Amino acid sequence: MSADPGDDPHVRLLLGAYVLDALDAEETCRVAGHLQLCDRCARDYVEVAEASALLALLRAEDLGE
Ligand SMILES: [Zn+2]
Repeated sequence: MSADPGDDPHVRLLLGAYVLDALDAEETCRVAGHLQLCDRCARDYVEVAEASALLALLRAEDLGE
């Protein structure tokens, strides 16, 4: 393993699909590996995951009415 986040393209654009589990296995693997190496993308991932959870919560509230 010589993974270096400096050489690796950042995965910000894939994070939304990653949170929704909409990537194929190869991309999921790449994003997961990148998140372990890259603090910046890891922080973005937390934000996207929180936004996604919030969205799911709002939808659940809508459905509850
Ligand atoms: Zn990154």
